[in-house]
Amino acid sequence: MKITQATIYPLSIPLIEPIKMAREFVRDAKTVLLCLRDEEGRTGWGEASVAPLMTGETLDSLLGSVKYLVEGAKSCEWGDPQDFADNFSSILYGNASAKSCVEMALLDLFTKRASIPLWKYLRAENNLSHLADPKPIPLLRMLGGSPEKEVADAKEYRAQGFKHWKIKIGSLSLGEDLKRVAMLSDLLAGDVISVDANCALNLEDAIRFCESDEVSKLSFAEQLIPADLALEDFVLLKQKSRIPIGLDESIHGMSEIEEFIVAKAFDGASLKLIKTGGVLQGFEAAQVLSANNLKLNLACKIAETSLSGAATAAIGFALGEVPWGFSMSNQYLQFDICDQALKANRGHLDFAQLAGSGIGIAPNESRVKEALAKGYSLIQC
Ligand SMILES: [Mg+2]
Repeated sequence: MKITQATIYPLSIPLIEPIKMAREFVRDAKTVLLCLRDEEGRTGWGEASVAPLMTGETLDSLLGSVKYLVEGAKSCEWGDPQDFADNFSSILYGNASAKSCVEMALLDLFTKRASIPLWKYLRAENNLSHLADPKPIPLLRMLGGSPEKEVADAKEYRAQGFKHWKIKIGSLSLGEDLKRVAMLSDLLAGDVISVDANCALNLEDAIRFCESDEVSKLSFAEQLIPADLALEDFVLLKQKSRIPIGLDESIHGMSEIEEFIVAKAFDGASLKLIKTGGVLQGFEAAQVLSANNLKLNLACKIAETSLSGAATAAIGFALGEVPWGFSMSNQYLQFDICDQALKANRGHLDFAQLAGSGIGIAPNESRVKEALAKGYSLIQC
């Protein structure tokens, strides 16, 4: 398979409402779309979002590395996807987000040519084809804003069928966050409720949080402390905590997963394609978590479109279960760039929402062009 043409789209899509996290206030999704065309005229699509505080990527840095990688990719012959990562590394060091963008587009092309859905390809490559058709993946809904808004949203989305929740913490005092958690835990009793501090707590507060009675109904607490703290701090937090500990910013791929498994420092992890370097390495990481009885949360950065949502979901459909839910972030966008945007159905995503081959969803090019970030143009290579 050869790449004959590539178009890179730097996008900015406003969120329905701004999302406040402990260290970030997100008003729009800054994301890069890539359309590759092969020698037979097929198109494959990829996406990666900026995440300055998670991957260090900005729109300009991501554009630069995607363009560099694509220019190198055009002179390659693309055969077995298992060789993609080595091919990328022969062109560019590091840069997991850019590699995940290009890998997604190549995998879309490859699985379209083979007339197989991406999730089924993952199963076939990992001797999992015997598994039954995947159950719908539970979607995780974020809660934040004023207490009144959190309660109203929780009631509204629970009535729609959502059963997985993430409460963003770390912007308020520890006492105020504990009160919110207790109140929402009572309201949503029986559901999978989590908190995410996005690294905002110090170790002492994180331990106080995890030892408190108010958190007893939480299913897990994600990334309470900064990723650059010592491994022993994570071990201590895990030992002291009465609830399972999830990690996100600390876990980029296999090397961290292996390190934290050996240290017994976590109970599960949040995987994003922009961290793992793509679907294939994300799937490998998810399998290792599962084999070690660790829980998985699949996630898109706030926010990515249906395209990245579908590619991320392929990991969940291939595995057959996502115990800590899937944070599909296109649900927070004012508009999507796909005609048939992925939507929650009773709080879940069903594989039947994806088309028969490839990633299963394709952007509408005119919608993509309308979403170009201000001051940027599409890039053709
Ligand atoms: Mg997180």
